[in-house]
Amino acid sequence: MKKFRGVFIKNEREIELLRKANGITARILDELVANVRPGVPTMLFEDICQQMCREYGVKPAFQGYGGFPYALCCSVNETVVHGFPSKDHILADGDIVSFDMGVVYEGFHGDSARTALVGEVSEEAKHLSRVTEECLHLGIAAARPGNDLYAISAAVQRHAEEEGLHIIRRFVGHGIGARLHEKPEIPNFVPEGAGEGVPLKAGMVLAIEPMLAVGTHEVEILSDGWTANMRDKKYAAHWEHSVVIHADGAEILSLASNA
Ligand code: MG
Ligand code: MG
Repeated sequence: MKKFRGVFIKNEREIELLRKANGITARILDELVANVRPGVPTMLFEDICQQMCREYGVKPAFQGYGGFPYALCCSVNETVVHGFPSKDHILADGDIVSFDMGVVYEGFHGDSARTALVGEVSEEAKHLSRVTEECLHLGIAAARPGNDLYAISAAVQRHAEEEGLHIIRRFVGHGIGARLHEKPEIPNFVPEGAGEGVPLKAGMVLAIEPMLAVGTHEVEILSDGWTANMRDKKYAAHWEHSVVIHADGAEILSLASNA
């Protein structure tokens, strides 16, 4: 496989498989979001993921990855990423829940995330989720040849900071392909003294994923070794798309129409 500065450049066939993997991922996320309501256990969403993976004949990408026990990362309120689904955790009116999911289709990976609102949610939480999604789309718009990697980071950072939100620094976006996590890492901020990032080229496939919080950027990992909570126990949100860079800009792969 061709590489530029350590980043794989995908060919048409590989992009087509990534389109399909991410399309299936998006279809599953649609179904998860459609089932969000107060009173349901978060394990419901894991069950839906598992069943839909079987129907599509694909493997969940996260289950077993680094030992993660589930197909779905289901992160409620102050959990930003890597939450475990649970039959004992019942969604309540006013919660926000982030679903992060991926599948493997013929050896290629999907990866996408969305934050959903449960019933009547506070203005603060709505604003957080809306701005995080806006940051995702600003990052995607910056993902084009002629820009370098940190143009994506800068676009996300500028909007998040203008809106008074905190950027989680511990977790970053990534290249995606035959592996779930490939080079480059894509921070949601421009690192101090980073210099120029990798120039973006057609054929790069990137998972861009802003993670923002209302009160702090500081995260703590629970004793399960995975669940990443905001230290101040306030809301966090997560939106992610996998995109391919073309000569004229980025195409979102994680759209249900690609399934
Ligand atoms: Mg993800
Ligand atoms: Mg990802």
